[in-house]
Amino acid sequence: MARVKKGDTVIVRTGKDRGKTGKVLQVWPERERALVERLNLLKHFERRSQQNQAGGVVEREGSLALSKLALYCPRCRKGVRIGWQVAGDGTKQRICRACQAVL
Ligand SMILES: [Zn+2]
Repeated sequence: MARVKKGDTVIVRTGKDRGKTGKVLQVWPERERALVERLNLLKHFERRSQQNQAGGVVEREGSLALSKLALYCPRCRKGVRIGWQVAGDGTKQRICRACQAVL
């Protein structure tokens, strides 16, 4: 079962967007990649730079490797390892291994 799914809030663990959180827009489990809202933005028609974030340039999210993402726990306020538990109705739930909150 996928660790990360559409609509999840994730945090980036490595790379230029390290420490940033965003909402998962799309996941490609077979490619082990995900698209995250406002993260790993790629600029079009202009070379990317850290300083020049000014308007007028088309920006689009680039996919990120799932291995670079961790599920964000709102209670712990950080990216966490997840565990699994079976809910009362028999469905599997993801839980935060640190605080046991259902994610
Ligand atoms: Zn937690």
